[in-house]
Amino acid sequence: MTVHSGNDAPVSADDALDRLMEGNARFLRGEPRFSREAKEVLAGLTKGQRPYATILGCSDSRVPPELIFDVGFGDLFIIRVAGNVVSPEVMGSLQYAGTHLKTPLFMVLGHEGCGAVQAALAAKFKGTQERSRIQLLLENILPGLDEVDMQLPTQQQMERAVEANVRWSMRQILESPEGRMRLAEGHMKLTGAVCEIATGRVRLLT
Ligand SMILES: [Zn+2]
Repeated sequence: MTVHSGNDAPVSADDALDRLMEGNARFLRGEPRFSREAKEVLAGLTKGQRPYATILGCSDSRVPPELIFDVGFGDLFIIRVAGNVVSPEVMGSLQYAGTHLKTPLFMVLGHEGCGAVQAALAAKFKGTQERSRIQLLLENILPGLDEVDMQLPTQQQMERAVEANVRWSMRQILESPEGRMRLAEGHMKLTGAVCEIATGRVRLLT
């Protein structure tokens, strides 16, 4: 069994995605393998890192990418922020990953039952006000929820909103001059995904 680490030769975006989804399958089978070799892998990374994927995920404690993708030290460059929102600082981290680490795969990873998305829906449809900084965060999410139908049953509305929020972050990345440039080169790929909170299963958005 090969254990991939951040020291491996570069992989393509598709290989990177395969690795992540294979890791998620191991996690779902209850057969994670990484922790056994973790110390050795970390020791091998002292000279630098070469993660094969960059993930923009939510801060929610139930969706740690390393665990749900069964990966370890050196594999993923991760930005976690409530609601997996894009901000100038997040774009800076993404640009670092693109230009310096050259990770072939970029993933925006949302999750079911995201509190930030839920709060944004409440602000949108019920006019609920949060505290100042939280409100700023929600305002970042709101433009992505334009298409979400107020008439939908609550659960369906949340599902749509979570997906819409992932796509909104993806769109902001894609439409940035830097994102457009890197992706146009053809070595990189941006994908969206949603994690099922009860199982940890990751579903790719098509
Ligand atoms: Zn969340």
